[in-house]
This record gives sequence, structure tokens and C-alpha cells, in this order.
Amino acid sequence: MSAYDPAERQMTPLATRLCETIPPGGLPLADYMRVCLLDPEHGYYNRKSVLGRDGDFITAPEISQAFGELIGLWAAVTWRQMGAPMAFDLIELGPGRGTLMADALRAAKRVPGFTSAVNVRLVEASPRMRELQHETLADSGVALAWADTISDDATHVGSVRPAIILGNEFLDCLPIDQVRWTRGADGGFDWNIRHVSVDTADASLTDIWVPLSDDDSHRAKLPSDPPEGTIVELAHTSPVLAAVAARAAVAPLAALFIDYGYGAGSSATEASGDTLQAVRAHAYEHPLTAPGLADLSAHVDFGRLSQDCGHLGLMVDGPTTQAEFLGRLGIVERAAKLMAANPGKAAAIQADIARLIAPGGMGTRFKALGLRSSGLTPLPGL
Ligand code: SAH
Repeated sequence: MSAYDPAERQMTPLATRLCETIPPGGLPLADYMRVCLLDPEHGYYNRKSVLGRDGDFITAPEISQAFGELIGLWAAVTWRQMGAPMAFDLIELGPGRGTLMADALRAAKRVPGFTSAVNVRLVEASPRMRELQHETLADSGVALAWADTISDDATHVGSVRPAIILGNEFLDCLPIDQVRWTRGADGGFDWNIRHVSVDTADASLTDIWVPLSDDDSHRAKLPSDPPEGTIVELAHTSPVLAAVAARAAVAPLAALFIDYGYGAGSSATEASGDTLQAVRAHAYEHPLTAPGLADLSAHVDFGRLSQDCGHLGLMVDGPTTQAEFLGRLGIVERAAKLMAANPGKAAAIQADIARLIAPGGMGTRFKALGLRSSGLTPLPGL
């Protein structure tokens, strides 16, 4: 995490409001993240052009069309593995500008029957992002519907359709809490939880750590007696995972999550355990610097996620690295075709693909995780 430089601090409209409204004990970090990302007026994702080369950060589907195309083919093969149901939901969580879905649908169209069977459902909390998705997908030629949360989308009780769920860089922006193993005044250790509070000296936002209450539900997930200063991050994934598991219990379901993170074979990337990051204009800053103007996200703990999914009765495939996943789906062959079709752009196409699979870069920092209902065979590429 970048150090908090008070000189860099910006009194954004959201910072002003938070300073006026945060209660004396502070606001849990997860609540701060939620407001910063999704406040209807000042939330980050409701601002203009946050994603893409001209925005604050760039995602895989915005780097190369091959990414969404391969995921479209992945979805088509998965649909066939399900027995090619006549009607199914293709659900994307946090679709951004709609680029991945547009590329995926274009590629999957070539698989007979896919387009007439698909109902696209976009789970998007930001009205601004929804507008962009409408624009991108206007000519897609398939039925589109939007929902605020995946739980809102469970609309077909009684006749739940098979579902294929996609989420690229969705889990990393779900709010997290952080707890730290801290020595108290009496010399004993206990967990403290991170809150965002107001420093009354200069009316600025500041981090504080407050004792975790004895009956806090987080406690069940924490290690006993870790090294002093250990920070554990607890992502608020349970509403999403519970909705996925509930659907998987009554109809065939396959899900693909791709995100940056650690676990299950790769180690946590930050020694302290603090992976919360703020990014603005392709540069890192402290998460309290400019509330509402920076993207806030945290590394996904794939080990914990896989465990949680297993407990919910979901079958788990992977995680595997993005490079391996895309390699198994044939990204090199796809790149060669794109280059042959656009010889003038071959160098740029090659560079973009290389970025997606770069060792030490996106290729290994990003992981792909598959989830499925118990009746399905293991998912392609995982
Ligand atoms: N998948 C896209 C965008 C990633 S950015 C891509 O790869 O380019 C994260 C997306 O998730 C944005 O569209 C954001 O508005 C949306 N989002 C963030 N938090 C959300 C939440 N709690 N529920 C639904 N959508 C959310």
C-alpha cells in the first residue's frame, strides 16, 4: 500500500461528505470502499471513462478482442457440455464497458444454436456503466436484461434456467474488511479491524484500528496466534457465492472468474497481508487520498474463495494462471489468425496478446477459477 501523503490529499465532494457524516468510531473499511466505488452521486464507477487506455486502468478485454472471443468460445463449449439446453442465461458480473460480452457473443455466434438459446443478463451496480453497456451491445442481436445484484437476477424460481456466469475483474472490487493481530495495552493479543475515521485536528480522513467485537462473524475465519501485525483480508463475497450456489443446486451452472490474486499454490503478494490498492490515471495512491476519484480494489484470495465455494457445495476447477488458461483455449492460434487478417496491425496485435500472457505480468498475476454444479464435467481450460 502506498504511504498516505497528506499533501496529496484531495477534498473531493465525497471526502467532504464523509468528513461530515462518519460517526466517532469510524466506518468499517468495507463500507468506505462501497461508498467510494458505487455512491450514486460521487462513486468512482459512476464517473466518466474510468476504464480503458484513456481511463484509470485497463482490463484484458480492453487490451485485446481475443480475450473476449476466447471466453465466448469457452462459454459455447461449456453450453454444449451442459447438453446444449434450448434456453440458458449467460450472466456477466460487472461487465464494465460491455466489451468482453460483445466479443464473446460475436465469437460464439459461429456455434450452431448458441445465439438462439442465449439470454444475456448483465449484473451491474453503476448506472453510468449500464449506459456504456447499452451502447456497446445495442447491435448484438440477442435478448439483454440488467440487474443490480446477482440475487436480484434469480427471477425464474420454479423454472430456473441453466446458467453460465462470467466475471472478469469483478471479485477484486467487492468490498473487503481488514483485521490485524495486534498487541493490546494489557500485553495480550487480539484482532483489531480497520476503520476510516476523521482526524479532528485537521478534518481529514485517517485510518484507525478498533477492537473486533467478540461476536463478530469474521472471527470464525481467522487463524489462531499468527505473527504480530498479521493482516487478514475478508472480502464480502458471500452474497455473490450464495446466489451462485443456490442456482447451481437447482439447475446446471458453470462460472468463470478471472482476477488478479493469490492463493492455492501462489503466495500472498504483500508480506503484511494488506493488498488494498487505489489507482488513478494508471498510478497507485493511498486509498484515502481522493475518495471517489480512484479505483479501489484488493487482491483476490483464491485459496479462501475455493474453500468457501466447496463448503457451499460447488465443484471447483483451478485456479490456474491466466496464461495457462488462455494458452489452453488457443490464444496463440487466435493471435495468428488476427495478425493474418490485419497484416498492418500485426505488431500491435502481437504486443497486446503478449501482455495478456506475460510471465510475471498479467499472465501469472491473474488467475482463472471455474465453479460448476455437481452434475457437470470439469470446465474447459481449467
Ligand atoms: N469486467 C469489466 C470491468 C471490470 S471493472 C472488464 O473486464 O473490463 C468492475 C465492474 O464491476 C464495473 O462495471 C463496475 O461498475 C462493476 N461493479 C463494481 N462493484 C459492483 C457490485 N457490487 N455489483 C455489481 N457490479 C459492480
